[in-house]
Amino acid sequence: MDFEVSDKMKVIIGMINEFVDKELMPMEQDFLSKPLKTILPEIERKREMVKKMELWAPNHPKEYGGMGLDLVEHALVSEALGRSPLGHYVFGCQAPDAGNIEILNMFGTAEQKEKYLRPLIEGKIRSCFSMTEVDMPGSNPVMLETTAVKDGSDYVINGQKWYSSSADGAEFAIVMAVTNPEAPPYLRASMIIVPTSTPGFNLVRNISVMGHAGEGYFSHGEILYQSCRVPQANLLGTEGHGFVIAQERLGPGRIHHCMRWIGICNRVFDLMCSHALKREISAGKTLATKQIIQSWIAESAAEIHSARLMVLHAAWMIEKVGASEARKEISLIKFMVAGVMQKVIDRALQVHGGLGMTDDTIISFFYRHERAARIYDGADEVHKISVAKRILKGYEGKRIR
Ligand SMILES: Cc1cc2nc3c(=O)[nH]c(=O)nc-3n(C[C@H](O)[C@H](O)[C@H](O)COP(=O)(O)OP(=O)(O)OC[C@H]3O[C@@H](n4cnc5c(N)ncnc54)[C@H](O)[C@@H]3O)c2cc1C
Repeated sequence: MDFEVSDKMKVIIGMINEFVDKELMPMEQDFLSKPLKTILPEIERKREMVKKMELWAPNHPKEYGGMGLDLVEHALVSEALGRSPLGHYVFGCQAPDAGNIEILNMFGTAEQKEKYLRPLIEGKIRSCFSMTEVDMPGSNPVMLETTAVKDGSDYVINGQKWYSSSADGAEFAIVMAVTNPEAPPYLRASMIIVPTSTPGFNLVRNISVMGHAGEGYFSHGEILYQSCRVPQANLLGTEGHGFVIAQERLGPGRIHHCMRWIGICNRVFDLMCSHALKREISAGKTLATKQIIQSWIAESAAEIHSARLMVLHAAWMIEKVGASEARKEISLIKFMVAGVMQKVIDRALQVHGGLGMTDDTIISFFYRHERAARIYDGADEVHKISVAKRILKGYEGKRIR
């Protein structure tokens, strides 16, 4: 077993870490305290710098201007970028665009690729993914109610979605809607590309999440589709194969998220250790001399390291045998890493005391926004049930002594 990182990736990760430290972290105070639009020009400048450094779109195909890294390589990139909330966006590999790019690349027609995929990879436009509904359980998406009914050469879409992340300012949405109501549950829905300028596409609001409605890329939209009419040529892939395509989107996407979360763990761990060493709690004694803090530091180090190895292993499995065969590993990392991140952020915040609750450090931002990690892309419970069923199947009919 070889844990060595290639020379190529050492150079790339070194450059990214330096860029995050020098160019992005200094912007974070403005990001936390000012409206996003006031810092967008600066964000755009940083994106141009990344393009000039030839580090743009690390996980996307070379033919469209990306770096074409494989999943294990991009996992390392995602870890490095995750240390700042601006990282993935500035390097052109942010969710939900990254997932949409993957499925457009795999299932899009030549025309769809030119119209939507190319400008998306180039960072000229943004997109959103519109599956979850207000009144239906996202954990069981086969129950979704949004419909796309054929009328002439069009689909007419009706339904109410929410948590369509980054819908505000997006050029198009990939919408999951029922096209084949009589088919078996997993073959009822399709993915359809809907330009946000289409009449009947109504962004109702940016949902306030933990006190912040956000704006632009950093927001989650509620969308009402009212007789929203798009050509049938906007169907992505085969009709009725929406969930088949969704599976393709979720495997690599979970690796990107999990390694981003490891990056967050690394960042708050650094802050926790450096604060513990600085903060004098009694004459001549810092927090770092207290066993309970030492215990949090040791436990966090062990948990981050084990979570990291699990994610890299899952990425390697996806590369070797495909996302479908690696389902157990993908589910394991999804709930495991989200839980580790939550614990590590919480400890880092606690070590900072009152300072941890303020926006003077990045910890409280991560505390607020990353709680969602245990819910999106499959809630903890759903992944645990799926893993347990798979494990138990292996024991059926066996006598264990
Ligand atoms: C920050 C954020 C961003 C998101 N971005 C997007 C996006 O871009 N596009 C999109 O379409 N959606 C997005 N989502 C929606 C997300 O995918 C759903 O919230 C998720 O699938 C859970 O669905 P739900 O909220 O309807 O909860 P429900 O399905 O109602 O589940 C509620 C809770 O019940 C529990 N539960 C569920 N099923 C079971 C079970 N079988 N057994 C035991 N317990 C169970 C879990 O604890 C779960 O959290 C986002 C959500 C968040 C929070």
